[in-house]
Amino acid sequence: MRLLRASCIEEIPYAQTKVMGIIAVHGGLDTSREKQYLEILQEAALRGHELLSKNRIQALEAVLRVLEESSKFNCGYGSVLNFDGVVEMDAAIIDGVSSRFAAVAAIRDVQHPVSVARALMEKTSSVILAGEGAVKFARKQGFPTANCVSDEQREAWQKARKSLARGEKPAQNLYTGLAYYGDTVGCVIWDGAGLAAASSTGGCLLKTPGRIGDTPSLGGGIFASKTSAVVCTGIGEAFRETLTAKYVDEKIAGGSEPQQAIKSALRRLHEQKKAEGGILAVDARGRVGSAFNAGQFPVVVVVDGKLLDNYQPGNLRQELSVH
Ligand code: ASP
Repeated sequence: MRLLRASCIEEIPYAQTKVMGIIAVHGGLDTSREKQYLEILQEAALRGHELLSKNRIQALEAVLRVLEESSKFNCGYGSVLNFDGVVEMDAAIIDGVSSRFAAVAAIRDVQHPVSVARALMEKTSSVILAGEGAVKFARKQGFPTANCVSDEQREAWQKARKSLARGEKPAQNLYTGLAYYGDTVGCVIWDGAGLAAASSTGGCLLKTPGRIGDTPSLGGGIFASKTSAVVCTGIGEAFRETLTAKYVDEKIAGGSEPQQAIKSALRRLHEQKKAEGGILAVDARGRVGSAFNAGQFPVVVVVDGKLLDNYQPGNLRQELSVH
């Protein structure tokens, strides 16, 4: 495996060098940074790199498909279960060049929600399909029925339901009152010609059936333009209501470096909603930024096919604690 040393840990400024492509992937807020998790993220990013010269959307899809197949991430097969014990997933994809965006929400029984979102974007003029309609569309496009309930997540759901039944209240988020978090995965790409972003999630454990988070919310949890590509993870309601992804893009358009823009967005999110989050972005100069204000935020960056060694997102946990 080829490794590049991260010259500056949080901000990767490549404007001065001849970089042909950047892929940055995150595994979700509070997902482990243990080796086995990072290795899957690395494998996903390198898979995307193989396709980058062909098509940035295909590359994005390939990255997220690796994560949707793993039981270690909250998307596809590893998705958390809703209150009723059912997996309902959200996924979105956006091309900053054409500004085409498409998403599926509360979709069930498909292994690759990101691929359904891509099919929606490329084969129809619709922007979002939800629930049963999204499943019907997936079947018409040839996506087979798939089991998305992993043993690990079934067990986590059973434990959570039991502790609720015993009247034990897990620590709640100050903003939403939601007791259980999720951890969306996301990817941003710059191929030297344009920017694109995609995210996929099972949402939050024990969420209300039918609840849709920020992942398919354009400008809330995801955005891409000719300026930047941005993906978010954390309390979806807070990201939606503050249009945080769009805010990051606007800050970068106004002259901020991605890292500054992201930190400013997290401060704003904290001030307005007392929420936790993680944000990852790349801009049209090939600069990557990422930061978070929770426990962990695993991010992997591949530049021209080389993995950055030990890349670390900015940690604002002390400054922006919500507890
Ligand atoms: N943002 C996701 C949601 O609210 C969950 C997460 O990223 O933690 O559905």
